[in-house]
Amino acid sequence: MRTPIIAGNWKMFKTIAEAKQFAQEVKAGSAKAGVQKVVCAPFTALPALTEALQGSDLAVGAQNMHFEEQGAFTGEISPSMLKEIGVQYVIIGHSERRQYFNETDETVNKKVLAALKHGLVPIICVGESLEQREAGETSRVVRTQTEAALAGLEAGQVADVIIAYEPIWAIGTGKSSSAQEANETISVIRQVVAEAYGQEDAANVRIQYGGSVKPENIGSYMSQSDIDGALVGGASLDAASYLQLVNGSL
Ligand code: PEP
Repeated sequence: MRTPIIAGNWKMFKTIAEAKQFAQEVKAGSAKAGVQKVVCAPFTALPALTEALQGSDLAVGAQNMHFEEQGAFTGEISPSMLKEIGVQYVIIGHSERRQYFNETDETVNKKVLAALKHGLVPIICVGESLEQREAGETSRVVRTQTEAALAGLEAGQVADVIIAYEPIWAIGTGKSSSAQEANETISVIRQVVAEAYGQEDAANVRIQYGGSVKPENIGSYMSQSDIDGALVGGASLDAASYLQLVNGSL
């Protein structure tokens, strides 16, 4: 059995004060056990958030990091800097980073390896553009991105990563992939893992859907055989909505 995981991606939203307020509201609310809960905040809010959430079962993630340990990389943050402040997860290769910040399959792979080396759980994003989807290339694109992201991992390590299938055209647009279509693409990703790392890793790796997930549609995704949770942008910003997503995922 794979434990469901609901991860919020706040993108470039929330000040430190707002992040603390969110933490207070989530701690005061009721969330089902049996779901892994993560929020990925901007760098500036991470120390306050990890402190505010100490003792709770809501883990904190970053939205990016560099793959090097240290060096002359102005503006960048290293894996050990994240570890030092209690961060446990890191989103890698989000389509916004691929699109606006030149993230490539190669840098995604380096970051995945660096995250695992430092004991951070990477949430690896893959997904096709609208153009690619309309050209019938969805399976090819997610296959290529998944193979590249996982290159160099050892058998057994794949069970430590989270993969998020996020069709780019569904992110922040209000247009979501149908649960059945998302499940079909996610089963392709699971097949890629099986071919490269064997059935056991494929059975264990958790694969989320992301793209306009809301409390109203989370249930339809979670009822699918291969979908193990969601990576959620807009609907994760409000504490009550985040709790509804968690509670709707079981
Ligand atoms: C995301 O930011 O990864 C995302 C899926 O955003 P949204 O839920 O707003 O579509």
